[in-house]
Amino acid sequence: MLPSIASLLQLQERDQRLRGLTKDLKDVPVLQQRAKLQLADDTAATEAALTGVREIEVKIKNVEIDIQTRQNTIKRLQDQQFETRKNEEFQALGNEVIRYQNEVRGLEDKEIEFMEQLEAAKEVHKAAAAKLAATTARVNEEIAQLEERGINLKARIDEITADRATLAAAVDSGDLSLYDRLMKSKGNAAVVPVENGICGGCHMKLVTATLTELKANDHLVHCEQCGRVLYFA
Ligand SMILES: [Zn+2]
Repeated sequence: MLPSIASLLQLQERDQRLRGLTKDLKDVPVLQQRAKLQLADDTAATEAALTGVREIEVKIKNVEIDIQTRQNTIKRLQDQQFETRKNEEFQALGNEVIRYQNEVRGLEDKEIEFMEQLEAAKEVHKAAAAKLAATTARVNEEIAQLEERGINLKARIDEITADRATLAAAVDSGDLSLYDRLMKSKGNAAVVPVENGICGGCHMKLVTATLTELKANDHLVHCEQCGRVLYFA
């Protein structure tokens, strides 16, 4: 193998690793964002449960006001009843009092019903809040792990980038610019092995002249199809 091929392969190995690591690093914030999305459902469920509790609390408050209003009326009617001298009016006021007392009993039953609903709604909210807390803890852990992963990836990238610079400095400048150009245009590899007369880059069969040139082993030879630099595996 030509020494320049060996150098370019070392360079290529670093570039391919850098490519993978850079992609992983770019994924970190995407994965963190995705982790946060897991909170959306549990947050919505907790908020809905709290709204449920508040709605029942309002119903109870309203029933209590209705009861109080009727009790005030009853008090007023009883005062009137106490003051009247007319038997008929006394009787009529008495009937009114009974009617309001019945209404109060009905409202009190309703209040008990709402109280029971409130207890159930509070349980639902408590369970939803607990689930949200557990999910939040898990998501925070996941985000922290991803954060650490990002830091490690950056360190690894810096390390390989420095290593790559050292390797690149030792490569002939003409070979290097050729390699950089090919790497940029081909994306995955600039220097590829030949196996069974087939280019490892584009997987096309190489013509005999190219193979003969490659066997001479005295200069860089390109695939006539894709232009990548060839070597015998
Ligand atoms: Zn090719």
